[in-house]
Amino acid sequence: MGARHAVISGASIAGLSAAFWLRRTGWEVTVLERAGEFRDGGQNVDVRGVAREVLDRMGLTGAVKAQNTTETGTVFVDERGRVLAELPSGGPDGATAEFEVLRGDFARTILEHLPAGVEISYGETVAEVSDEVVTTSSGRVLNADLLVVAEGVRSATRDRLFGDLVDRRDLGIAMVFGTIPRTASDDSRWRWLTTTGGRQVHLRPDNHGTTRAMLAVTSADVTRLDRADALAEMRDRFADAGWEARRVLDGLDTSADVYVDQLTQIRMPVWHRGRVCLAGDAAWCVTPMGGGGASLALVSGYVLAASLEHGIENGLVAYEEWMRPLVDDVQNFPRWLVRVAYPRTRLGLRLRRLADKAMTSRLLSPLTAKFTQVAATDRTLPPLVAAHSQGA
Ligand SMILES: Cc1cc2nc3c(=O)[nH]c(=O)nc-3n(C[C@H](O)[C@H](O)[C@H](O)COP(=O)(O)OP(=O)(O)OC[C@H]3O[C@@H](n4cnc5c(N)ncnc54)[C@H](O)[C@@H]3O)c2cc1C
Repeated sequence: MGARHAVISGASIAGLSAAFWLRRTGWEVTVLERAGEFRDGGQNVDVRGVAREVLDRMGLTGAVKAQNTTETGTVFVDERGRVLAELPSGGPDGATAEFEVLRGDFARTILEHLPAGVEISYGETVAEVSDEVVTTSSGRVLNADLLVVAEGVRSATRDRLFGDLVDRRDLGIAMVFGTIPRTASDDSRWRWLTTTGGRQVHLRPDNHGTTRAMLAVTSADVTRLDRADALAEMRDRFADAGWEARRVLDGLDTSADVYVDQLTQIRMPVWHRGRVCLAGDAAWCVTPMGGGGASLALVSGYVLAASLEHGIENGLVAYEEWMRPLVDDVQNFPRWLVRVAYPRTRLGLRLRRLADKAMTSRLLSPLTAKFTQVAATDRTLPPLVAAHSQGA
């Protein structure tokens, strides 16, 4: 019997992890990526919980560690930049995790360590899916024992094939990420301002001699805005935010890799239909509000390949059963948490800062540290059948 063939749509963390592990377990693998070339951009993501074990099994712990963003801790600051509180960052899953890495560096590390024989085709997408056949946008007809859709939160193929099952939950928060020049005031810490009007400003060091900036604001909808309009909206909202907001606004205007996101959870009752399955943000986007999206994406590739050792039908059920508790754990936070994280009034901000002080006190710090423990489980990863393994 010939090798089974998987078509994977999307060459970011979930898609590349699936490619890595399916190839390792003997599949023929074709990856389709909509972009014309590999997408390097993106800001800070981290590797937490059981994702560290997957990374280790990939043999990539050292390679990812070498890309560490150099961040040493996380502090809350006020409108004049004075430190108000420091979040616990001890241990592998602190606010600043042991593995802090830029999304692009992370995805490229997986790309560069894919086992031999994975075909990646840029500028090509899924056009049509019928029984065991995927027709691509360039007219290629691919036999597909399995189609893995790993196209991120706004996945078009998911919407086409699972549209009736997609529950989108807009969290009412817009985020704009970008890279800005580093200045003498930047240090090795993640500095985080929360201020009135449901606004946050973040500055984080990176390992490329620049600074990663992020603006987040409630009750703005950037979904239908292009880059220029999204930045204009931010300029409007952050003009009087204080601290380094103006520098960030100016820096974003010329940043090469602005990423705009309207935080939207994706919830679905199932993640597979026939021979098609979803992975990563396309299946369960948890948003930065939940955290751990990159970790879950990485883990999903391993769990999928290991589960499929039991055949496709049973394997896809087993994949879902293993992944769902990890996803639920991150998605099911109480809605009032958004109001606490993004206070609108002066009174709300004052209460929030008092809470920050208490939560980062010596007494409550161990409890606070639990908020950043995501993708954590005491279950062991499903085993891979070594007989199928192919060398990296
Ligand atoms: C360029 C980029 C920058 C990002 N920056 C940040 C950031 O700054 N902060 C943050 O928290 N998260 C960011 N993210 C999201 C973050 O990577 C994900 O939340 C998380 O890592 C899960 O990854 P994923 O592989 O499921 O999805 P994603 O990382 O979103 O990757 C999806 C991939 O699928 C491709 N794709 C989309 N549609 C199609 C299609 N129809 N056919 C084929 N391919 C398709 C995309 O080009 C992309 O390569 C970014 C994602 C990308 C793609």
